[in-house]
Amino acid sequence: MKASRLLSLITLSISIIGCVAALPRIDKAKLLSHVETLSSDVYHGRQTGTDGGVLAQLYVKNEMVIMNLTPCFEALEQAFSFSSRQSQTEIAGVNMVGLIPGSGSSDKTMVVTAHFDHLGSREGVVYNGADDNASGTAAMIEIARYFTQNPPEHTIIFAGLDAEEMGLQGARALVASSCIADRNVVVDFNVDMISRSPKGELYVAGTRHYPGTKAILETLTPREGVALLFGHDVPGTGSEDWTSASDHGPFHQAGIPFLYFGVEDHPGYHQPSDDFQEITPEFYYQSVELILETILKFDAKLDTITFQ
Ligand SMILES: [Zn+2]
Repeated sequence: MKASRLLSLITLSISIIGCVAALPRIDKAKLLSHVETLSSDVYHGRQTGTDGGVLAQLYVKNEMVIMNLTPCFEALEQAFSFSSRQSQTEIAGVNMVGLIPGSGSSDKTMVVTAHFDHLGSREGVVYNGADDNASGTAAMIEIARYFTQNPPEHTIIFAGLDAEEMGLQGARALVASSCIADRNVVVDFNVDMISRSPKGELYVAGTRHYPGTKAILETLTPREGVALLFGHDVPGTGSEDWTSASDHGPFHQAGIPFLYFGVEDHPGYHQPSDDFQEITPEFYYQSVELILETILKFDAKLDTITFQ
């Protein structure tokens, strides 16, 4: 073989490998379509205990049924109730929880969580919650779809959680349940607000508590327009510490390591202007690809990684 031919073959191989690394795994159109639908006025802000909240439950359930996820309970639904801090009444919530069994023999299990509830409407104004957290819900669904087509080595539980906005109630109910307590759950990846960052900054919180995760995160393929930043997990920094700010909190309290992905609070945070039109779609899509790559890397290393 002539040297020039060998050289061009090597160049070709490198470019093919390069292409493989950059290949999309997530269906961007589907991802955005979930966010647009869930944050439309039809869902009335998806407040737990309202018709809009039930519609959001059914949306997640329908996707899990289509993907044929294995229920973590007798059905995909995990019903729970809690007393409201505001009205002192009992409110009913429903998590949607399905899993994909691992192809390997290890019992180590990962969880992907995203809350689908939001604030509902106030004085006739709908709080659509496109970023918070239609974005994470859609990511959880499309990441699950990837793994139904590319089975993981370790079992992954996918949980659409209810009543986060009322005090992480769905996450508390899930962590206390047999679905988590009876399994060897070693990490929770929580996604909550990942679609709106004009600056292109995605935070991953949790490495301060679980420094062993850092080495894997540092090997992620850089994504155009997304700076992945460590932080928001330093104790004693008040609202800058997101350790208990979303559904990963109850996992952490139960001694289960977490990584939380989310953006900084923005002008639309908990405002009626958290609309689909305001999200940054390319940043969002690339962020979801990055989160999927994270889960793939943890799946490959789960039997040897030490989180502490
Ligand atoms: Zn949220």
